[in-house]
Amino acid sequence: MTHLTLENLDVRHGQLRAVKHVSISIAKSEILALVGANGAGKSTLLRAIAGAHRPASGRIMVSGTDITPLQSFQRVAAGISLVPEGRKLFQDMSVEENLIVGGISARKGGWTVAKIFEAFPNLVKRRHAKTGTLSGGEQQATAIGRALMSNPEILLLDEISLGLSPAAVDLVYASLEIAKAGTTLVLVEQDLSRAMNFATRIVCMLEGQFVLDAQTQDVTREQITEAYFGNRGRGH
Ligand code: ATP
Repeated sequence: MTHLTLENLDVRHGQLRAVKHVSISIAKSEILALVGANGAGKSTLLRAIAGAHRPASGRIMVSGTDITPLQSFQRVAAGISLVPEGRKLFQDMSVEENLIVGGISARKGGWTVAKIFEAFPNLVKRRHAKTGTLSGGEQQATAIGRALMSNPEILLLDEISLGLSPAAVDLVYASLEIAKAGTTLVLVEQDLSRAMNFATRIVCMLEGQFVLDAQTQDVTREQITEAYFGNRGRGH
């Protein structure tokens, strides 16, 4: 069943068309990795889906309902949650307080503060620490936990590995293995190996457009790399 649909989506920064006429259907519980070079338009696309950036034209649909006119807080109620690039935590608040804030006006669902600490056991000892004092990996775990507290059906994750040690990235992905159950995931991931190991589907973006869209099992690393650098046209 199609869960998230983008129809002819155009997103601009002033005169710049960062996302150009993008269309895609994403099925329920699919794990889609969005890859592409810096400036390809990945973050802009995630922000448009979350309602942080209004598209110039096109439609965003969740389970067949047009959510394009909705503001970001209304999209949370519609089941969309974004873990933004750079995490954007409340630095003067503790881990637990950040999680509680994430649960304000949450949809009905199974995520509670206790469940987040079960999924992210490395956060337990940091429960009362201000997030500004945490390691990068702990901050990322808190940001994902905060997003989960709204009980999203569609979780958007922007560059969750950025700036983290390989060990910290391992921990974050191990927790995502638990968190992904029943959730549709769209993640921007610069690390192609991570993307290919975790995602069921890979979409490559180049200059605001999708240039590759394939099930992970059907595509090679070389094909993705070629699409990434624009050496080939549209392909699968
Ligand atoms: P990165 O990996 O560097 O975050 P990205 O694929 O996520 O890249 P975007 O950040 O979406 O790409 O940027 C797409 C285009 O839009 C780029 O040309 C970028 O310079 C431009 N852009 C992004 N944010 C803004 C902004 N706030 N104002 C103006 N232009 C912007």
